[in-house]
Amino acid sequence: MDCPNCGVYNPEGRQVCWRCDHELPKPEEPKKQGADAARRRRQMWILVGVILLIWVLLTWLLPQLLSGGPALTP
Ligand SMILES: [Zn+2]
Repeated sequence: MDCPNCGVYNPEGRQVCWRCDHELPKPEEPKKQGADAARRRRQMWILVGVILLIWVLLTWLLPQLLSGGPALTP
Protein backbone atom coordinates (compact mmCIF):
# COMPACT_ATOMS: atom_id res chain seq x y z
CA MET A 1 0.00 0.00 0.00
CA ASP A 2 1.04 3.61 -0.37
CA CYS A 3 2.10 5.61 2.67
CA PRO A 4 -0.61 8.13 3.64
CA ASN A 5 2.10 10.59 4.71
CA CYS A 6 4.68 10.60 1.91
CA GLY A 7 2.96 8.42 -0.70
CA VAL A 8 5.81 5.97 -1.18
CA TYR A 9 4.98 2.32 -1.83
CA ASN A 10 5.29 -0.09 1.11
CA PRO A 11 5.07 -3.88 0.85
CA GLU A 12 2.10 -5.63 2.46
CA GLY A 13 2.50 -6.51 6.14
CA ARG A 14 4.61 -3.50 7.08
CA GLN A 15 3.39 -1.51 10.08
CA VAL A 16 5.43 1.66 9.51
CA CYS A 17 6.67 3.39 6.35
CA TRP A 18 10.26 2.49 5.46
CA ARG A 19 10.95 6.06 4.39
CA CYS A 20 9.29 8.40 6.88
CA ASP A 21 8.38 5.98 9.76
CA HIS A 22 4.75 7.04 9.49
CA GLU A 23 2.32 4.45 10.88
CA LEU A 24 0.58 2.61 8.07
CA PRO A 25 -3.14 1.74 8.27
CA LYS A 26 -3.76 -1.91 9.10
CA PRO A 27 -5.23 -3.96 6.28
CA GLU A 28 -8.86 -4.95 6.75
CA GLU A 29 -9.71 -8.61 7.29
CA PRO A 30 -13.11 -9.18 5.74
CA LYS A 31 -12.46 -12.90 5.30
CA LYS A 32 -12.66 -13.57 9.02
CA GLN A 33 -15.92 -11.67 9.42
CA GLY A 34 -17.35 -13.42 6.35
CA ALA A 35 -16.52 -16.84 7.73
CA ASP A 36 -18.09 -15.85 11.05
CA ALA A 37 -21.30 -14.74 9.33
CA ALA A 38 -21.38 -17.92 7.24
CA ARG A 39 -20.99 -20.07 10.34
CA ARG A 40 -23.79 -18.17 12.08
CA ARG A 41 -26.04 -18.57 9.03
CA ARG A 42 -25.30 -22.33 8.92
CA GLN A 43 -26.12 -22.67 12.63
CA MET A 44 -29.39 -20.82 12.02
CA TRP A 45 -30.37 -23.23 9.22
CA ILE A 46 -29.50 -26.22 11.41
CA LEU A 47 -31.75 -24.76 14.12
CA VAL A 48 -34.56 -24.29 11.57
CA GLY A 49 -34.12 -27.91 10.45
CA VAL A 50 -34.29 -29.23 14.01
CA ILE A 51 -37.42 -27.18 14.76
CA LEU A 52 -39.03 -28.45 11.56
CA LEU A 53 -38.17 -32.03 12.50
CA ILE A 54 -39.67 -31.62 15.99
CA TRP A 55 -42.78 -30.03 14.47
CA VAL A 56 -43.22 -32.97 12.07
CA LEU A 57 -42.75 -35.44 14.92
CA LEU A 58 -45.28 -33.70 17.14
CA THR A 59 -47.98 -33.12 14.54
CA TRP A 60 -47.74 -36.23 12.38
CA LEU A 61 -45.65 -39.05 13.76
CA LEU A 62 -46.51 -38.83 17.44
CA PRO A 63 -50.35 -39.16 17.08
CA GLN A 64 -49.82 -42.19 14.80
CA LEU A 65 -47.51 -43.81 17.33
CA LEU A 66 -49.85 -43.09 20.23
CA SER A 67 -52.90 -44.48 18.42
CA GLY A 68 -51.04 -47.70 17.81
CA GLY A 69 -50.47 -47.70 14.08
CA PRO A 70 -51.97 -45.99 11.06
CA ALA A 71 -55.13 -44.26 12.21
CA LEU A 72 -56.62 -43.84 8.74
CA THR A 73 -57.19 -47.51 8.09
CA PRO A 74 -60.21 -48.91 9.96
ZN1 LIG B 1 6.00 7.49 4.34
